[in-house]
Amino acid sequence: MSFDRTRLPAPSDYYTGTAALKFCERKGKWRTTECRFHGHDSMRIHAATGAFVCMAGWGARGGDVLAYHMAEHGQDFITAAKALDCWLEDDKPPTRRARRIAIETLDSLKTPEALLRISTVVAVTGLSESSIRRKVASGDFLAPVKDGTRCTRWVSAKVQNWLRAKGAQ
Ligand SMILES: [Zn+2]
Repeated sequence: MSFDRTRLPAPSDYYTGTAALKFCERKGKWRTTECRFHGHDSMRIHAATGAFVCMAGWGARGGDVLAYHMAEHGQDFITAAKALDCWLEDDKPPTRRARRIAIETLDSLKTPEALLRISTVVAVTGLSESSIRRKVASGDFLAPVKDGTRCTRWVSAKVQNWLRAKGAQ
């Protein structure tokens, strides 16, 4: 298992796409946007490197999109690397399907009420399907909600709370 920096999204793709930030300038190295940490237009982001720094001087800063993702979502390095699809398990490159799931994951995690399918829960927890089912059976993971007779779904907010609790241990 390893981190592959070359798989990090381009800063422009990440900040305007995944993070959905709006920028005041379209040119120049450093561009201004909202600061999600303090709620004002004081975040400066480097267009080429993805480095960010809050000009309000409250300490929000970092060198790349991974550091930003960790800061905004309160994630550890590995969790954020997985979310940005640059954490390789067993040195196997992620499949197209895994990449698609990673994008769906980021979108659905922004909606607390979203119902996540097991592939998404796999993507965010790093657990396999079989170990999720095992942990549900033994009470070590959240019980899913039943959506109809066959579908099994997990509430996004509950999964996030579980991840936070896990990260805090
Ligand atoms: Zn700030």
